[in-house]
Amino acid sequence: MNIGILGGGQLARMIALAGYPLAQHFTILDPGADAGAVGLGKHLHGAYDDMKLLGELAETADIVTYEFENVPADVAKFLSDHTCIYPPAKALEVSQDRLTEKNFFHQLDIPTAPFAPINSLEDLEKAMLEIGYPAIIKSRRLGYDGKGQVVLKSAEQLAYAWASMQDAPSIVEGFIPFQREVSIIAARRPGGEVAFYPLSENSHSGGILRVAECREVDPLQEAAESHVTRLLEALNYVGVITLELFDVNGQLLANEFAPRVHNSGHWTIEGAETSQFENHLRAILDLPLGSTQARGHTAMVNFIGGMPDTEQVLKIPHAHLHLYDKTARKGRKVAHATIRSDDAEQYKESLQQLIILAEASDDS
Ligand code: ATP
Ligand code: MG
Ligand code: MG
Repeated sequence: MNIGILGGGQLARMIALAGYPLAQHFTILDPGADAGAVGLGKHLHGAYDDMKLLGELAETADIVTYEFENVPADVAKFLSDHTCIYPPAKALEVSQDRLTEKNFFHQLDIPTAPFAPINSLEDLEKAMLEIGYPAIIKSRRLGYDGKGQVVLKSAEQLAYAWASMQDAPSIVEGFIPFQREVSIIAARRPGGEVAFYPLSENSHSGGILRVAECREVDPLQEAAESHVTRLLEALNYVGVITLELFDVNGQLLANEFAPRVHNSGHWTIEGAETSQFENHLRAILDLPLGSTQARGHTAMVNFIGGMPDTEQVLKIPHAHLHLYDKTARKGRKVAHATIRSDDAEQYKESLQQLIILAEASDDS
């Protein structure tokens, strides 16, 4: 089959790498020359809404998938009219607007932080009377890695915070004093077969994911599965989905979902029997899903801004390095490494060494 991918970053790269053993071919629509998937598959260079390129992609690809959720609605519509796009366009529509997304969670009885839509300073002042401090204002669209967000600690900050949003339609959310952040990754085939990965426990700093640890046995696994199942069914979903959750005293609140493979699931490459990338392909190709079982103790560490020293990473017992073939730039994810070990003590020690290396090369 020929699989089209919108976006040519590291997620497209890892999807393509997972497809080679299954003899899949890839056509990658990619606006940047310096992206992670360079050298894999056939590349179409240009903007996502370049109709000529989209026509070519629709012509070549049997199925189109994507590595980011900001695919414009008319592009998704064009692709659904001319070929097959998975995950379905509805998942894009819901996940690319934080207000639509939060309302969707509510319709499905998936709890979230309290929130309110904000289109003016007046809206913000009114909403804060209900929501209380601290809170967080986020642009409804186009944010990632915590960009377009401001934490609100007192009323004096409101005018400045609203000005910094530059009139972008926004939402304000109560700031949740969570104990942990976790995510659940699941894959669904067209007929409804579903596979769930063990929860990832995620540490962020500066709004960017740093470390994701697989939680093979977690008391909240079942609750997370139940939330993501509702999403999968409501969207008649096909492919891999990721739901980000806050654990507040054992209760899960949904933060957002990504209709794609996810950074918090990179440990699955060496750490699960079948990686999230392979299962995404199996799901969209309507092939039997592979086991999502963890292979021992496993985690992933991101390298942000600065390149890791390959020798030093590979010297760490049970470490595997994934370089994205990108130029280092402040705040940019350039690589990740995973640890997988059957020995709990060795795992902890190796993970610690990896975190120290990542912190040393981190510029953010
Ligand atoms: P990404 O898509 O890269 O995960 P994003 O820009 O879409 O990030 P969020 O996931 O909404 O942003 O927020 C980034 C991080 O900020 C969260 O992972 C969490 O650590 C923190 N955060 C977001 N919303 C809240 C909240 N309501 N309460 C407490 N912390 C929050
Ligand atoms: Mg996001
Ligand atoms: Mg997030």
